[in-house]
Amino acid sequence: MKRLANVGAVAVVALAALGLRSYVARLTVTSATNALPTSTPSALAHYDHSPRHGGLVLMNGDTHFEVVVDADSRYAVYFTDAVRAPLPASAALEVHVAVTPNGRPARIIPLQIDPTGTHWIGRGEGIDDLNAVLRITYVPAVGAPYWIDVPVSAWPRAIASLRK
Ligand SMILES: [Zn+2]
Repeated sequence: MKRLANVGAVAVVALAALGLRSYVARLTVTSATNALPTSTPSALAHYDHSPRHGGLVLMNGDTHFEVVVDADSRYAVYFTDAVRAPLPASAALEVHVAVTPNGRPARIIPLQIDPTGTHWIGRGEGIDDLNAVLRITYVPAVGAPYWIDVPVSAWPRAIASLRK
């Protein structure tokens, strides 16, 4: 259990780092707003990081992406812009998730664009380790490939069955 607690701490640190980045961004935006009184709070970049689909909102520069993992190991990734307006799935050329259980090789789950063209979807084999790490990788239509490692504990629904 100690190991699990450590992984949880890593998750908190990672999320805190994201929070700090958004806080700094917000300070910058606030001073810009003073110069531009016509701006409305809803249009401020990095003002809104709340999930729309029950997932975890991550960001790469001014691109946000919400990663959803459910109890059946179905994955979904939704891209949004700086003010969280939806981007088409084609904002990315490729998305995949690598699940690395503790001490075992990674399993890579390629995602495909959903028929609606609004997000990416894929299905894994099930996560059997509370200490697994998910690496979410995407290749943007413009810009360099990006990846981020997040402990699976960031998606409580994905590991709910392991905690019984
Ligand atoms: Zn942001």
